[in-house]
Amino acid sequence: MRGLLVIVLLCMSACDRAASTPDAREERTEPSASESASDESTPRASAGGDGTDTGDADRGEGDSDHDLRVDESPAAPEGSTVAATAARHGFSCRVPSIPIPRPRECVRGESYPACKWQMPAAPLSDGRYRRWRNTIVEHWWGRPSLVTFILASMAEFDRLHPDQVVAVGDLDAPGPRHQTHDRGVDVDLYVLGALLTENAGGGRYPSNYEGKSEEEVEALRVRVLDLAKVLAACANGAVRIYYNDEVVLERFHAWYDAQGFAPNPFGRPMQRHNSLHDFHFHVTIPEELPLHAMDPLPEGTEHPIARIEPPPPPGSAPNLSSRTRRPGEWAAVPRE
Ligand SMILES: [Zn+2]
Repeated sequence: MRGLLVIVLLCMSACDRAASTPDAREERTEPSASESASDESTPRASAGGDGTDTGDADRGEGDSDHDLRVDESPAAPEGSTVAATAARHGFSCRVPSIPIPRPRECVRGESYPACKWQMPAAPLSDGRYRRWRNTIVEHWWGRPSLVTFILASMAEFDRLHPDQVVAVGDLDAPGPRHQTHDRGVDVDLYVLGALLTENAGGGRYPSNYEGKSEEEVEALRVRVLDLAKVLAACANGAVRIYYNDEVVLERFHAWYDAQGFAPNPFGRPMQRHNSLHDFHFHVTIPEELPLHAMDPLPEGTEHPIARIEPPPPPGSAPNLSSRTRRPGEWAAVPRE
């Protein structure tokens, strides 16, 4: 166990950091600030106002014993409602055996935000995901159920498309980078090479579809669509994905509407947003989503205890977008 812990700690501080390089931020070239502000803040406000609806919609039959206490048990093998429901939609939503860092507050039974879980370092994921290059480990914490949702979804998507790389971006990252990402329910996902465009760095956003045959584009869209389906299934239908491809959106909604999910607290499960969402999914789940079923860790190992490290001040972090901006400019910059 000690060896595994050392690996985890080493990777968190070294491997992952090394993989993160400074880069031009996606939001820098984005023209429409007001659109972003209104679009992101509206559902956020309504999610708060419709809190009871959110909970009701999310909890299916037989879920009463899960209630809302999703983040206090470090072992928490529950989440059977999500898993069982997801299985009915053709997908498995189970967290593979992987050590998930969390602070002592979680063990003591405290809830979010004192208790957050961190995405396990990418090298521990057997290639199921990597960390987005602009995301720092301090921005990889969220509600425990968000982390199990991501891990379960990545595992299932990897089973479907083992050669497709998905990068997991920011979870909780409040501050100038985002309008949201401050309630433990948001995550950005990058299906590298398969979405409408690519954030190639240096202010370049090449199309992933231009110059490709119809068959090639279709194959890419199938991957994107499959990820959306997996996310919806693993969220029990209570999900919102910002993504701009009309073709994927229509197909996804046709599939979604045929699943018989409970009413979605977010409205339509896929929504167009500003052009940042040409190259990534912004995914939001309800605060009440239960933990997903988790495969146990190997005998004698435990989930590592780690402090939630606050992110460095925006102006000081070399790989944060904000380093190139003055605070007064942030309001004019659209956020994810
Ligand atoms: Zn986002």
